[in-house]
Amino acid sequence: MPELPEVETIRAQLAPLVEGRRFERVEIGDPRLTRPHDPREVALELEGETVAALERRGKYLVVRFETDRALLIHLRMTGSLTHASSGAPAEDPYRRAVVTLDNGSDVAYRDVRRFGTWLLLEPGELDPYLAVKNGPEPLGADFTTRFLRERLRNRTAPLKAALLDQRTVAGLGNIYVDEALWFARLHPHQPAGTLAAEQVRAAHRGVRRALERGIAHQGATLRDYRTPDGGSGSMQHEFNVYGREGEPCPRCGTPIEKTRAGGRGTWYCPACQRL
Ligand SMILES: [Zn+2]
Repeated sequence: MPELPEVETIRAQLAPLVEGRRFERVEIGDPRLTRPHDPREVALELEGETVAALERRGKYLVVRFETDRALLIHLRMTGSLTHASSGAPAEDPYRRAVVTLDNGSDVAYRDVRRFGTWLLLEPGELDPYLAVKNGPEPLGADFTTRFLRERLRNRTAPLKAALLDQRTVAGLGNIYVDEALWFARLHPHQPAGTLAAEQVRAAHRGVRRALERGIAHQGATLRDYRTPDGGSGSMQHEFNVYGREGEPCPRCGTPIEKTRAGGRGTWYCPACQRL
């Protein structure tokens, strides 16, 4: 599933291609993408809108239009966006939608598992909608050690589960939580409310470091994630623990172990990350 670094990579690559462009024609071929709204009605509403900015909030892509409406895209498990500069994009059975821009180029949305969503919001609806679902941006100024300490206080959930909760901090998923906890030398099962002040500082630093590395490598391509030009990320070659059961910890050489935390497969070093 694309997490913050993957969505941010898509945003950065797509933004110069769509900003200032008008949605000339929109085809949405999958009613699941827009439900409960009729995909044809949503497509008609989108036609004629001009993109003011392409932004990201947590794992959401936010297409802001000049009318102050916004299209909120969540890629969920397997969604991806590609840009083709001219002519019809190649046939693809998993294509769910195509936006033709006013310069003749196409942005195609592909989704194998079909969990992704497109939601058109009217002016004023975007910020309240996002505020309910997302804590602060982990790379922004609002995400401080103090904020994290407040959010983890009194929580009995495992630290891994608390960090997967988008209301704690937005944008983390299974990969980057495991990497963040390895940097922080924290055990994924540690109850979130029991972290000492120094451990909260380590978690805060670990989250930022894991995400910054992910962005620097254009995200991780495990299965379906592609950059808009059809390329791959390279973060999958840089993992310290994620998916590396039995391989040596890059810091101490101890074999990485796999467990379950927050309902997810979880990798950690039993020597560096003690409970
Ligand atoms: Zn280790």
